[in-house]
Amino acid sequence: MSAAKSSTATATTATADRPQGPPSGAYVGRFAPTPSGALHLGSLYAAVASYLDARAHRGRWLLRIEDLDRPREVAGSAAGIVRTLQEFGFQWDGEVVRQRDRSELYAAALNSLQARGLTFECSCSRLQLEDESRYPGTCRGQPHAAGVPTATRLRVEAGRIQFGDRIQGAYRQDLNGAVGDVILKRRDQIYAYLLAVVVDDAEQGVTHVVRGADLLDNTPRQIYLQQCLGLGLPQYAHVPVLTEPDDAKLAKSRRSVHLDAQRALPQLLSVFSLLGLAPPSSLKGSTVADAWDWAIAHWDIQRVPKRLNMRLVD
Ligand code: GLU
Repeated sequence: MSAAKSSTATATTATADRPQGPPSGAYVGRFAPTPSGALHLGSLYAAVASYLDARAHRGRWLLRIEDLDRPREVAGSAAGIVRTLQEFGFQWDGEVVRQRDRSELYAAALNSLQARGLTFECSCSRLQLEDESRYPGTCRGQPHAAGVPTATRLRVEAGRIQFGDRIQGAYRQDLNGAVGDVILKRRDQIYAYLLAVVVDDAEQGVTHVVRGADLLDNTPRQIYLQQCLGLGLPQYAHVPVLTEPDDAKLAKSRRSVHLDAQRALPQLLSVFSLLGLAPPSSLKGSTVADAWDWAIAHWDIQRVPKRLNMRLVD
């Protein structure tokens, strides 16, 4: 891993935060929901932040459905997410990309790591590892028994990963000490989110990732994998995760966070406020398109609360 590379990426952020001049096409952002249920206020919050940051930079904004984990997929939710985003006035660039159509890309990346001896097969079950806080390296040095289902893990070497998050600031993790060798392909032969997200962000030319802070501690392993694959690093910004008044993570079932297309304008205005913007009350009588124009013109990522969680009050 190269700390110098990470901090270079961070240093660039300071000057790139405000849009300058005509569209350069240099900025590419994305929203990458998992179709495990309907979009709710928490996911809308991350989507809005990502969209505003891209549009304020006159950048492109892509929509990618992360539907690799078929067992977790809720039927109809991908279509529902796309519909809700449309109802709330998001406009993405290009076609919606679905990870289920991209297995060849993930296989190629995995092959290149395997060819360089950077992976090993692991037959440990979830149960065997349940008491471990990190993967203890059980299968690292052993040939695996034929006929046993295995996961493919990336060898994580000692060293600290650090990067500058545009919202949360400096973040560092001893990846080997905290996590150990990470899974790239699961025992059920499904490519892991980690491999897919890194391959897709690079292949789609994503330069800026804005997403929920629940993925902040996952970012060092993404950076490590980018480095193993020789890929460039996007700049990262992690917005707080919204929680219920009782601190529970927002749940799809709670009525307070249900997204309602009939109330798209007031719900968007609330999200803008939670992102540190101060929408004027005149916007309440305007249209969704006007609200977006206003928010894009006033977006300032430095105003997003620098917190991992943010409680919604009734
Ligand atoms: N698919 C992930 C989720 O819905 C987000 C991945 C990402 O933004 O990197 O939580």
